[in-house]
Amino acid sequence: MDNTFDIIVVGSSFSGSFFLHGYLPKARKNARILVLERGTKDSRQWASEKNFINRTPEKPWAYVIGFGGGSKAWWACTPRMMPNDFKLKKTYGVGVDWPLNYEELEPYYTEAEKVMTVSGPDNSPYPRSQPYPQPPHRFSDPDRLLNAAYPNQHFPQATARTRVATANRPPCCGSGVCSACPIGAKFTIMNEMAHLYKDPRVTLLLDAQALAVETAAGQAKGVRYLKDGVEQIAKADLVVLGANAIFNPYLLQRSDLAHPLLGKRLSEQVSMGAKIYLDGVDNFQGSTSINANGYMLYDGPHRSQYAACMIEVQNVPFLRVEKGRWRQVSYMKFIFEDLPNEKNYVTVSATNPHLPETVYKGYSAYTQRGMDTLPDVLPKILAPLPIERLDISGPGHSEAHILGTTVMGNDPATAIVDKHLIHHQVRNLMVLGGSVFPTSAPANPTLTLSALTLWAVDHL
Ligand SMILES: Cc1cc2nc3c(=O)[nH]c(=O)nc-3n(C[C@H](O)[C@H](O)[C@H](O)COP(=O)(O)OP(=O)(O)OC[C@H]3O[C@@H](n4cnc5c(N)ncnc54)[C@H](O)[C@@H]3O)c2cc1C
Repeated sequence: MDNTFDIIVVGSSFSGSFFLHGYLPKARKNARILVLERGTKDSRQWASEKNFINRTPEKPWAYVIGFGGGSKAWWACTPRMMPNDFKLKKTYGVGVDWPLNYEELEPYYTEAEKVMTVSGPDNSPYPRSQPYPQPPHRFSDPDRLLNAAYPNQHFPQATARTRVATANRPPCCGSGVCSACPIGAKFTIMNEMAHLYKDPRVTLLLDAQALAVETAAGQAKGVRYLKDGVEQIAKADLVVLGANAIFNPYLLQRSDLAHPLLGKRLSEQVSMGAKIYLDGVDNFQGSTSINANGYMLYDGPHRSQYAACMIEVQNVPFLRVEKGRWRQVSYMKFIFEDLPNEKNYVTVSATNPHLPETVYKGYSAYTQRGMDTLPDVLPKILAPLPIERLDISGPGHSEAHILGTTVMGNDPATAIVDKHLIHHQVRNLMVLGGSVFPTSAPANPTLTLSALTLWAVDHL
């Protein structure tokens, strides 16, 4: 194989595929793009593989190795971030600001939602230039009560689990096993973006593990990778890393692209849960597995003191063990943002340089203060429901959202990539995905990282 390309993309999940989606329409007719994917196309093998989870003593970090990456396992919850999530420092004096604002990202959110055919409500907590591509999912009865009490804060969840059929996907069956969606209703790279890899300009190399970015004189020259046990080098004018927030910094570290912040600020949201026993109201009439998002504890002046929280209302049917009252129960998750902490990081393992190692010292006092408010505030927030008993649990171990290890920013001293996701030192190296997030807002990150990819390609 001629190993010279225009572009090498590492990873075939959201970051890699949204890059191709944005780039191919403007690429030359004879462009050559190589995609290196460490895994294979086996559709189910990943679920039982050990490498699904990077388990550290302190905390698991969940990801999927394989064609389509995390899109195989994700639950397809796709809320946008709120405008103030981009300017936490400016608005509330905490954390750091993103180098772009909501308004700049809005058109790319709209495009990413089109690709994923996201279902969502007409009114939403954030400004939108266009309606959601699909109508909203049906509420459960407890959601109807909360929506009546909070018409501007309790919404059907924006989700890439179909409400109505698309050409490639049937409507969601709400079976509650979204990680391995049994009918192919949730958006994945395989069902909506696989055509990109059939483009004659794209060469997809499976089972090919990128080892490092080759650089010389401050430029990326290509990627060293392992295929069939043999190390090879592919050359390119542009290298794009879309290998996630554990492997992006690890690959940069292995490429000797040192920076005091490289690999640091590893984070994700932290969640609590609540089981709510209802008096006389049945649950589980919704049309998808996670029915609604509540914004009652999200944005507001409290964020100068403690973390914002997004509420997720589950519609995964589990029964109350009480005759005649099987469905008088609800489960909600409370997802809190975290602040950057340099004590949490990814590094090259000292014992085995072929593996990344994660060190996690915990979430911030800011997040803890937010969680501490829950026992007091929750009965008040949920007063529109006829509550018999409320059991709060948590914090949970993992949200499976890995963020913050190659952060974006305008200042090369405090950021790895610029606002267009180009490496500050190596200007023909792009880094995509949750690793560029300066802060971890409560919202699930994948729609935002897909939109950011489209934004970055547009400015390339
Ligand atoms: C169980 C679960 C549920 C989730 N649910 C949601 C949800 O509802 N909403 C949400 O927003 N997010 C969710 N997420 C998170 C979401 O999956 C990630 O945010 C998203 O997949 C990140 O996309 P990415 O392309 O940046 O990285 P990844 O999806 O992690 O993909 C990285 C790709 O790079 C490849 N790769 C890695 N290293 C190399 C290498 N050295 N050489 C070549 N290839 C390499 C991998 O095989 C993979 O294909 C969930 C995750 C899990 C695990």
